[in-house]
Amino acid sequence: MPISEEQVRRWLSAVTPTGESADLVSAKRLEWVSLLDNAVAIKLHLPDIRDEPRAMEAVAGACLEAVRQGAIRAGERIRAMRVQFVDHDGGVVRESSFEASPKGVLRPATEATSSKPHAQQSVEPTPTLAGVKHAIAVGAGKGGVGKSTVAVNIAVGLARRGSAVGLLDGDIYGPSLPTLMGLGAMEPNVLEGKFQPFMTHGVKSMTVGKLVEADKPLIWRGPMAHGAFKQLTDKTEWGELDHLVIDLPPGTGDVPLTMAQNLKLTGAVIVCTPQRVAQDDAVRAVKMFEQLGVEILGVVENMSVFVAPDGAEYDIFGRGGVQQMAQRLGLPFLGSLPMTMDLRTNSDAGDPSANFEGDSPPQARLRKALDDLLNNLESQLALASVRQAKTAPTLTIR
Ligand code: ADP
Repeated sequence: MPISEEQVRRWLSAVTPTGESADLVSAKRLEWVSLLDNAVAIKLHLPDIRDEPRAMEAVAGACLEAVRQGAIRAGERIRAMRVQFVDHDGGVVRESSFEASPKGVLRPATEATSSKPHAQQSVEPTPTLAGVKHAIAVGAGKGGVGKSTVAVNIAVGLARRGSAVGLLDGDIYGPSLPTLMGLGAMEPNVLEGKFQPFMTHGVKSMTVGKLVEADKPLIWRGPMAHGAFKQLTDKTEWGELDHLVIDLPPGTGDVPLTMAQNLKLTGAVIVCTPQRVAQDDAVRAVKMFEQLGVEILGVVENMSVFVAPDGAEYDIFGRGGVQQMAQRLGLPFLGSLPMTMDLRTNSDAGDPSANFEGDSPPQARLRKALDDLLNNLESQLALASVRQAKTAPTLTIR
């Protein structure tokens, strides 16, 4: 027998949001429950966290878990759940949708999957990316600005916050993931015709650097480069991921352009150093993504200041230039990473986890910068998902 509204209300009375003194039901935060054949939709009114996407995400996750477990105890399975956060006048502030995968695992429904049960047609992402909630491209107007370093630290940082994260090395001219992620002598595993990603620092990664001889990728051009990247994307067994971070080749040439075009991206992060010349190139990268219709999640200033081991800061390249550039272009500024000796040595040693540990003055500075960057990126991802979900067809539950 399908689950009832009464049961859902009872299960949700076990959820008390952080900072609230009573559970959702007793505090009259649960405004509405709707059910259709074990698809559940609820409306919550939580004005105190209406500007806090992460807090709302946490409440939505707790509701999902309470209902999922309640249903299991009742010998049932829910097949979809939608949690809407509404204003006092009923306007939707935020919405989180979850949907059962073919194996029955409930996961966040993305733009392409939220309509699946009754979808007439939808643009299917590349098959292997079907289980990926957010595909985030990291690009740069030119090489050497720290694009790969930023991509790696975003991936490791998101994984340390509890997300399932993959990292794809699209920099086929100079793959740096084997070094940066400490892949050492690991050999790629193939199972049923699929590459199994490497697992280090809590992140699943795949790189062309492990599939060909070290000096070969550099000579790839045009169609060969596209072919290699397509194989890497299509033939890697990513599984279900919250985030797939893709380190694109630098620049705005044919190869990064085609890659960005062929992937179903949630958005792009642009990395730039403060110097004027680097900014000019970054503007070109921004334009490229905009022309492709790829949302810019934001801009990162790398090597903003040099932080010496004693904590003294040196403005080598003129910090702040990238923030001004972002403002000029009307783009979110995600944050700035300092230049530190440790960051460089940790990168060379393949130990990005070390960037999130330690209390020396430069480390404290770097950790704070990484934390701010990840907070801003998570907010922008949540906003992008909401915006993109709005344009997708949705399942109506009455
Ligand atoms: P890109 O991918 O843009 O070519 P990389 O990420 O490979 O650039 O970085 C180039 C070099 O600069 C690497 O040696 C890297 O360790 C170093 N580097 C990048 N960002 C920083 C930083 N914030 N502090 C110290 N070294 C950095």
